[in-house]
Amino acid sequence: MLMSHQPTTPSSSAYRRAQDYVQERPLWRVPNVEMLTKRTLALRVVLLMAFLSFAGRLWYLQVYNHQRFEAAARLNRVRRVPLPPPRGIIFDRNGKVLATSRCVYNVAIVPAALPDDRREEVLRRLAFLLRKSPQEVTDVFDATLGRPFEPVTIAENVDARTVVAVEENRPRLPGVLIVTHIARNYVNGRFAAHLLGHIGEVTQEELDRRKSRDVRSGDLVGKLGVERQFDAYLIGARGSELVEVNASGQPVRTIGRVPQKPGRSVFLTIDASLQRAAEDGLNATGRPGAVAVVNVRNGDVLALASKPDFDPNQFGNRIPTEVWRALNEDKRHPLYNRAIAGLNPPGSTFKLMTAIAGLERGAITPHTPYVCPGGLHVGRYFKRCWKVHGACDLYKAIAASCDVYFYHISRRIGPDAIANVAKRFGLGQKTGIDLAGEAAGLIPTPAWKKKRWKQEWFGGDTLNMSIGQGYVQTTPLQMACMTAAIANGGTFYRPHLLKKVVADKGKLVMRYEPQGRSTHTDLRFIDLVRQGMRDAVIAPGGTAHVMNMPQVTVAGKTGSAEDARTAKSHAWFVCFAPYENPQLALCVMLEAAGHGGTEAAPIARKILEVAFQKNRPCAVGAPRRMKMTAWDAVVVGAIDQFGILCRRFSREQ
Ligand SMILES: [Zn+2]
Repeated sequence: MLMSHQPTTPSSSAYRRAQDYVQERPLWRVPNVEMLTKRTLALRVVLLMAFLSFAGRLWYLQVYNHQRFEAAARLNRVRRVPLPPPRGIIFDRNGKVLATSRCVYNVAIVPAALPDDRREEVLRRLAFLLRKSPQEVTDVFDATLGRPFEPVTIAENVDARTVVAVEENRPRLPGVLIVTHIARNYVNGRFAAHLLGHIGEVTQEELDRRKSRDVRSGDLVGKLGVERQFDAYLIGARGSELVEVNASGQPVRTIGRVPQKPGRSVFLTIDASLQRAAEDGLNATGRPGAVAVVNVRNGDVLALASKPDFDPNQFGNRIPTEVWRALNEDKRHPLYNRAIAGLNPPGSTFKLMTAIAGLERGAITPHTPYVCPGGLHVGRYFKRCWKVHGACDLYKAIAASCDVYFYHISRRIGPDAIANVAKRFGLGQKTGIDLAGEAAGLIPTPAWKKKRWKQEWFGGDTLNMSIGQGYVQTTPLQMACMTAAIANGGTFYRPHLLKKVVADKGKLVMRYEPQGRSTHTDLRFIDLVRQGMRDAVIAPGGTAHVMNMPQVTVAGKTGSAEDARTAKSHAWFVCFAPYENPQLALCVMLEAAGHGGTEAAPIARKILEVAFQKNRPCAVGAPRRMKMTAWDAVVVGAIDQFGILCRRFSREQ
């Protein structure tokens, strides 16, 4: 039977209400089963994604970055301690230590780790251990309060006994630390002080100038001398240590370490024995002065001394104000390196330049005679010589240092010819030594005088210049280099202090290559001047007889330079040795000391005695060295005298 598909007659009121409802409401509000299913699905997806992202984040934090965040948490009780690098060692040419490093212990307090209620008791106990008054320690502590987590230094450079005492009492000294520093140790005290220089804490100005991130505030850098010049080699690279600390700020254990890189060793060209001889010689006179000794074959500076001096050890890492003030206010200027910056008229040592200029210009031959009656009439004036020399040739004029002979030469060639030679031999300009603070000196010319003083050049200026007086100013190093260029036949070597730089395990980082230039001077003329210098030592009337030594043949020139600022003249002496085969040249200068031959030359003799003593490895490393017995000296002396007689004889013919 077929069922009727007719809907039930809408007779009930409930059904009608429902129909009305359907008709009144829009279709989309009808809860549709299909739509409901879709929404649930979307919700589930969103929930799932949210869950996954939370789970992912949790995994990222807990598993993937576990170590990082654990370390970050630990950092709350971890301190990074900088490890300053040991500075490179400075050696002399033969490997003798001149400057090294040593450990210095400071006692410090971390204010935050010192409980307020125990403050007084801890400071009192610490004062007792440091052998200071409690008030003294309290004052130092209070003066630097402000940064609670930074150690405040209470005592610097304490001895080992104090370090042990503080360590033993550590449980009763919360917040107290021993801080280790590396300080410079100049093993020979004042020895070569100007040359080696000193170190100190870097200033903000130096940091700005360096633009290098390797050096940071609080680091120690070279401030003067070799320490400053070769700082880049010596300084090394800092390291650091991660240290876990307890609630009192005391280190418990080391977590990590970036090791520091020690500085490189610097070998200087200095020969410590010659430097010692030079300094002892200067000290014995008690006068301000300087010595420069150079190797004539390559410009190696073998000694560079200046007196008075200072002890670089007293500078420490921070220069105490009172030390600095005392050195600066000392009227003898101990900080001033006279060897490279001391400018004075060179006196008769400069006559060597006038002689070469006269020979070059053809104004004289070595046998050109001039008579010295004790001076020279110039217009209304009488320019005095220091002695009546009688008839002179060039050899005698150099040996006996006759001013009149050089007045005559200068009148014939003029100031520009002399200045030309002097400049070729390195005067009137910096030598270029690898040390800061060098002075250029002055070789005057008429053009210079016009520009500088707005004055004409007078005939008297030429005469003064010819004997190294008037406006002429040189440093002892310049005069040593000039003498070296005469000794080696006309090559001017740039003087230098750096021999080589060596890294860990003896690895060579760099070696200095000598830099020389020709002075463009005829070897014949140089040789004539050298003979005159030899005569100064051995010929009758020579001014440098003190240099007539059995060990070695010396050729030299004395100088006594008048200076309006001082009552006595400056004593100069330049020489080279051995005469036949020159190895080293030197210059000694003593301020306001008198005659060069009697005051300065004896110091040169002491230096040469050390340089050419028997069985000593030669100062300049050359195999050829005179091995002279007393008899050899007599024979050589006789040959020299014979040569002088021959020259005199040929002159008289
Ligand atoms: Zn004279």
